[in-house]
This record gives sequence, C-alpha cells and structure tokens, in this order.
Amino acid sequence: MSTTRITKCARFLLPVLLGFILLAPHSAEAQSTANPEPSDWFAGDPHLHRGIGCGRSNEKEMLSPQQLLEMMKVNNLAVVSVLADAGNGEIKYADQDLAMITGQDNAVSTPQRIVHWDAEWHYDPEGVTFERKMIGGHLILLGLKHGGQPFAQYTFPIFAWAREQGGIAGFAHMQYLPFAFYPPPDGVPQSLDCCAPLEYPVETALGSASFLMEDVRGGDSALQAYYRILNTGFRPGLAAGTDYSCNDNEPLGTLLTYVRIPDGKLTYGKWIDGLARGQTVVSRNAHNEFLDLKVNGTAQPGDEIRLEGTGPVRVRVEYRSLHSNVGRIELVQNGSIVASQTAEVSAASPAVLETTLDFRQSGWLAARRMDWQTGHRTHTGAVFVIVKGAPIRASASDARFFVSWIDNLLKQTSPGGKWSGFFAKDREAAQKRYRDARAIFLQRAAEAEQQKAP
Ligand SMILES: [Zn+2]
Ligand SMILES: [Zn+2]
Repeated sequence: MSTTRITKCARFLLPVLLGFILLAPHSAEAQSTANPEPSDWFAGDPHLHRGIGCGRSNEKEMLSPQQLLEMMKVNNLAVVSVLADAGNGEIKYADQDLAMITGQDNAVSTPQRIVHWDAEWHYDPEGVTFERKMIGGHLILLGLKHGGQPFAQYTFPIFAWAREQGGIAGFAHMQYLPFAFYPPPDGVPQSLDCCAPLEYPVETALGSASFLMEDVRGGDSALQAYYRILNTGFRPGLAAGTDYSCNDNEPLGTLLTYVRIPDGKLTYGKWIDGLARGQTVVSRNAHNEFLDLKVNGTAQPGDEIRLEGTGPVRVRVEYRSLHSNVGRIELVQNGSIVASQTAEVSAASPAVLETTLDFRQSGWLAARRMDWQTGHRTHTGAVFVIVKGAPIRASASDARFFVSWIDNLLKQTSPGGKWSGFFAKDREAAQKRYRDARAIFLQRAAEAEQQKAP
C-alpha cells in the first residue's frame, strides 16, 4: 500500500542565496550558485581519455593536464578520472599515459577541481586487430598507485591487480547489455561486441567488482542489469561517465556521477570510496539536475535502514533542476515502479514527491527522473531496507537469470563452444570463477523462494 503526495518547494532558494553570500568572498568560482546538488555531493566524470583514438583519431597530441582542467569548467566538475589504456593500447600513447599514474592528484589540480590519472583495462574480442582478445568486459580501475599492462583471458586477475595497489574496480559499458523482456536466453548475450561486460554477474557475486558504470550515451538496459543484481542481494555502486573522446567529443561530464562525501571535504580517495559504497546519483543530463532521495528522513543512497518488523518507511524525493523542465519522478522498489509523478521544475522551484511504502521483506529503493523519449536522465544509487535482519533476496527469477547467464558462459567457453578460442591459457581458472558464482546465484534463488513463502 502506498500514499503519494506532491509538493512544490521554494525552500531551495534560501540555501542557494546563503551559499552564495558565504562562499563568494572565498571562491572566485562561486560554484554553489550553479550546482543542483547539496554541498556534500561532488560531481565528477570517472571515465575519460585524453589520448589519440576514438573521436580524436586525427589528432597529433594528447590533451595536456591544463587543457583537461579547462574542459572540466564546461560542466563545473569537481573530479575527473583520466584513464590511461592499461589494456591493448588502442588509445595512444598508452606508455606516456600509464606513467602519469602515481596515486597522487595531478599537479594542475586546484581545491575545487581534481585531475587524477587512473586506468581502463580492455582487450576487445571484436572490432580490433590486436592479437590478444578477451570477452569479460572493460574494467575501470580507480585509485591505482602505478600503471602497467597486466593481461589475463578473464577479468579476476585484473581486479586483484588493482586491489593489490589499494584500488577499486568495476565494469564499464553496462548500456551495451541487451534488454530482457522474456525469459532467458532473452537478455543473455549470445554474440560478442567490443565492450559488453559478460563477466559482470560473476565478479559482482564474488565480490571483486565495486561498481557498475554506464557511459558514452548510457541507456536503460544498464538499469535493468543494476536492478537484477540488487534484487539478488549485491550492492555495487552505480556510476556514469562520458568515455570521452569515444562519445563524439561531447563535453566532459555530459554523463556524470555525483558522489556524497559525508564530511563535505573533497579528496579523490573519498570520492572513489563513496562511488564504491553506492553513495551516488548519476546524470545523463550533465550537471543540470539532481535527485535528492531520503528515506525515513536521513537515509541516502548507499545507506541501510534496519526495521525491527514489517512496516512503513517514509520516502522523499526532491527533483532539482537548473533549468525549467517537465519530467517524471519515479520511485523504484525492488525494480518495480511504486510511485510516480509528472513534475514541472525550475531553478527556484524543485518538485518533491513524498510517499510512504510498506516493506514486508528486505529490499531496496531508488529514485529516477525519466524522460519520455530517452529514458532515465538521473538515477540515484539504492537505499537498502533490511526487515528483521533478513538479507535481500527480492527475486528468485533474477537469481535464476544469472544462473542461465553463467550456464551460457560455461557452454560457450568450453571446447566446441563459440567463445572457446578466447581461452587457450586461462580456461580452467575462468570457469572456476563462473562455477563459484553460479553456486551463489543458485543458493540465492532458493533463499528468495523461502523468503517469499508465508
Ligand atoms: Zn571501454
Ligand atoms: Zn573508455
């Protein structure tokens, strides 16, 4: 049961004016006046490249740190992760870029803007001429202390390589996964492209992947994948970035990730830590809008609420926009829309959706702002609601979907399978990961059935 109430809110204007008065003498950039997010959230682009390739194939020079700092101003970004090519070296000049990874912010960084080198790892199975190829997907490696060009025919050793340096890693390009409207094999990739993250269920279940990222143009199939993985009880962070210049050279931050840093003091380490913890809101509408989700007054994306028994939780979603706009606010519970409202907003007047929801078993909530033609424009990370201490097992069919996914991986990577040729060296080790993850999903399917039973 749910009740829904919509209010328009002018309280937004006062903090903006106060923020301007307080910050203006100290900051030439007066950034709070131009941002839709609260002051303890920081907008960044965790996936961009400065090299030659993609939309910069005809260039002679890599972009300089100073140029990247200037490019951050278009969308008023606080953080950029400049990714060296730690994989097949398609983005030139990888050797120069990898040497820029030191674990420190680049020297051009300012108190307002962090420019930081990290890496993407990929050996595309299709569309390139490089001899080495693999099917697992592209990994975004953040918080590295040094560069390198590790290679394996599956992703786990690369996650381990990042972790040995104190870094975190996740899967890029989630939007290239197919939608699934019907039972498997619908939704289970049957063919290869450059980038689809075929091992994302495996390494998320086994605890290696810290986040899932949409990029380039983004897309709603990334959300379907995110919802399924949340429904089976895993909690990867949700991230978005541009993959500049592979996005037709659209500005940095055209897709971006807001990360909440509870003490409000920005460092790169805290920003990527918040991203891995799911304290995020993603935008496909650059730095123009924000969704402020609060559950029971204080819980925000990445947080957990524990309920002693079944009962109502209060939810408040505030849709803030720098420009006048009309869109739909939707509240998502365990992958289903449970409240929605078409809302008109302007900079001085955000829209607020307030509702109360019953939680009969453990689950999660997220908010999104939808556009009729292009799908989600903003999306929050999940808030987790734990009822009577039970783990989240919200969907047996989603757990079984991943079992089917991994069955297909095992079949196609075995001798005689379509993808067998990618595993001359690492088949045994890769398939052990697949089987271990499969067992987890199988168990969770059973646990989800048990929770559902009266
Ligand atoms: Zn990539
Ligand atoms: Zn990339």
